[in-house]
Amino acid sequence: MGKTILLGHGSGGKLTGDLIKNTFLKHFDNPVLRELTDSATIRIKDKLIAFTTDSYVVDPIFFPGGDIGKLAICGTVNDLAVSGAEPLFISTAFIIEEGFPAEELEKIIRSMKDEAREAGVIIVTGDTKVVSKGQCDRIFINTSGIGYLDRKYESISTGRNIKRGDKIIINGNIGDHGIAVMGARENLKFETEILSDCASLNHLIKAVLNSGAEVKFMRDITRGGLATVVSEIVDNSKYGISIDEKTLPVRESVRGMCEIFGYDPLFIANEGKVLLIVSEESSQKALKAMSRHEHGKDAVIIGEITSDNPGKAVLHSIIGGSRIIDKLTGEMLPRIC
Ligand code: MG
Repeated sequence: MGKTILLGHGSGGKLTGDLIKNTFLKHFDNPVLRELTDSATIRIKDKLIAFTTDSYVVDPIFFPGGDIGKLAICGTVNDLAVSGAEPLFISTAFIIEEGFPAEELEKIIRSMKDEAREAGVIIVTGDTKVVSKGQCDRIFINTSGIGYLDRKYESISTGRNIKRGDKIIINGNIGDHGIAVMGARENLKFETEILSDCASLNHLIKAVLNSGAEVKFMRDITRGGLATVVSEIVDNSKYGISIDEKTLPVRESVRGMCEIFGYDPLFIANEGKVLLIVSEESSQKALKAMSRHEHGKDAVIIGEITSDNPGKAVLHSIIGGSRIIDKLTGEMLPRIC
């Protein structure tokens, strides 16, 4: 790490990973944290609990398809759900800039209430701080959440049962959230409106788990995009990942914006997308369960776990070439969530 913190340290990509390893983990190290999973799995008496926290600094706070409040609920619900847990209780803390309109605050709170109801979680505790004008940008929100983790799903968050031939599934189009927020920030007019995919995925995930499909791993694809997630999965692994570019679902309008701005949809943040790794035998079962659900109707297999290229994720492109997919370096779109 250099002498100062850069925007890239908050990108969710390579610099964030370095900061976690070289600073946070160096000092906080313990067996639970060391797993670096979406939620910590903790044992209280004989029960397993998933526990997670996230802060939201998205700019602008209102964007097509959502707002900072909805995001703050969905993000924490999803981090619990991808660990195989059933999200139950949420805490919420606000840092508000002096002068912030009360009406906008209430709009955000209403949106949090609606999303919590949708996800089936209860907001049980919170905190409020107000700082002088100019000392934060409008409003920042932190949410933490806990959920109940059934012992039979305990291995999902670490992915320790992944093996060659397992299929990689995604529940729909990538890039919508990042492009929707960027468009709102820059006041861009799209020909067809691009909405954030911001959604709580716990019901979708529950449907897949209940289908009996053998789910080996899940992660929500947020900052750093699909590229960062697949690259992290195979870090220090004896397996590799093969992704077939032609199967990757990207909306035409999102692809167009990416071309104009020089972005790669693989690195763009999503807020309603989950990557699942399921056994080859149960992949059709998982797809079927997902396709019946509102947030899973575009679910598709995008690749598989391989024994070639251990430790690497490889994209097989439409034109026949292949390239290694690495973590996001630097920061493409700061304050995206
Ligand atoms: Mg996550």
